[in-house]
Amino acid sequence: DPRLQAISDAIRVIPHFPKQGIMFQDITTLLLDHKVFKHTVDIIVDRYRDMDISVVAGVEARGFMFAPSIALAIGAKFVPLRKPRKLPGEVISESYVLEYGTDSLEMHVGAVQPGERALIIDDLVATGGTLFAATKLLERLGAEVVECACVIGLPEVKEKFRRLLLRLGDQGEVD
Ligand code: IMP
Repeated sequence: DPRLQAISDAIRVIPHFPKQGIMFQDITTLLLDHKVFKHTVDIIVDRYRDMDISVVAGVEARGFMFAPSIALAIGAKFVPLRKPRKLPGEVISESYVLEYGTDSLEMHVGAVQPGERALIIDDLVATGGTLFAATKLLERLGAEVVECACVIGLPEVKEKFRRLLLRLGDQGEVD
């Protein structure tokens, strides 16, 4: 798919941000090019439009830049998964481990109904800790998480997940 190369080319890599040794994948340069931005949304929409998904959950903050467009295109609701103390209503919360310390994600109770089929969107998967917490939030409210989709899957991360799935004997795919 020639669109993938254009997407990859539009993502800027900034060394040593936010700290020494990190190669930060910056998707804001992708958003500056509306054609490439649309390709990114279209590829995800093509995969999920006929999968009976009624919930697209986006992870704060960069998941918010893609998830609402995807939700509108596939005819699903958008549910924000936010950092602590941002959502005004009753919430459930899941903590996850970061390289240094922990963080949490929160979701409004009542945002999804039991049995709804959900897709979770973020910009990038590294250890998978964020998406794991996001999945747990949706499952605690009875939703079925069909898949998680990210714009960026670093090659070394894909290989790690592939090995993990093999070890678990899982039939899941890392694409
Ligand atoms: P994980 O929980 O280790 O999989 O990390 C994924 C989370 O960290 C996502 O919410 C990303 O937005 C964020 N993240 C980690 N590294 C980068 C990066 O290089 N660019 C943008 N976001 C990143």
